[in-house]
Amino acid sequence: MSASYPLVVRCDLPVNVGTVDATKAVHVHELALCEAIARTVLDRVEHRRVTRVALRIGHFRQVVPDALTFSWELLTTDTDLEGSELEVEHVPATVECSECGAFTTLQLPVLVCGTCGSHTVTLRTGNEFLIVSCDVAEEVRDGPVPPPQ
Ligand SMILES: [Zn+2]
Repeated sequence: MSASYPLVVRCDLPVNVGTVDATKAVHVHELALCEAIARTVLDRVEHRRVTRVALRIGHFRQVVPDALTFSWELLTTDTDLEGSELEVEHVPATVECSECGAFTTLQLPVLVCGTCGSHTVTLRTGNEFLIVSCDVAEEVRDGPVPPPQ
């Protein structure tokens, strides 16, 4: 038995987008991201066992999915988050051009219009790092869930 709670939390992490070029793209450390997620979720679940955490992560966050999953398993062992599923919705990076109004989906962190080549563009998506929701088990425990036998 689990219940889904809406939990939209904007993680307050530094991001370096807008002035970076492809050669200086910041590689975000997945372990640090997972620590921030775990801390944020554990603060809110009141010792309920968490079964699933849903995230929305923008392309510019440079998150490597496998590294994120690995870090999550590592960090959540012996906590109320142990065994929880990390569900990630990846958001592409898009910009809107101020010159021609076109929207471009970017593959590299270079802010340029794909239609006219202008650099006068505004980042519309791709910078997200959100905890969208988490599912928790109904029962309340006094402490961390013991590992399964
Ligand atoms: Zn343009």
